[in-house]
Amino acid sequence: MNRKRLTWEQYFMLNAHLISMRSTCNRLNVGAVLVKDNRIISTGYNGGISGDVHCLDEGCYMEDGHCLRCLHAEENAILQCALQGVSTKGSEIYVTHFPCIHCMKKILQAGIKKIYYNKDYRNHEYCYHLLKVSNVEAVKMDMKIETFIKDGDFSSGHLQWDFN
Ligand SMILES: [Zn+2]
Ligand SMILES: [Zn+2]
Repeated sequence: MNRKRLTWEQYFMLNAHLISMRSTCNRLNVGAVLVKDNRIISTGYNGGISGDVHCLDEGCYMEDGHCLRCLHAEENAILQCALQGVSTKGSEIYVTHFPCIHCMKKILQAGIKKIYYNKDYRNHEYCYHLLKVSNVEAVKMDMKIETFIKDGDFSSGHLQWDFN
């Protein structure tokens, strides 16, 4: 057996990608995982509120270039903690994409102390300012999800991790 073991960071980021596959928005599939002491305390993907229709079925509700229906993955992960009464203070967040400015403010205000992201996404310079004043680090993980999956194909339903 010379199988390499996932690092914690890879483990949580791969979880974020897996969770993003549940996204109900047509535009960008994002996943987020909130972690404390190497335990997942919450997860989220972008989509509408419980009980509403899905963008996937009805099309996005577009206004000024944004989909009004969807909560972002980070918002859903933080709100799940609010709903369940779990403290986000001192936790870390793994997100598939660099957070938007609105999510960045919520992440910082929720006391999350470190952000790991995989893909750049319209990274706003104000986000970097907020990170600096909050003394929070955003770490880009140069991890190609495709290299972890046999044939790079999610749809086969057969995930075979390939560690190199
Ligand atoms: Zn949408
Ligand atoms: Zn956002």
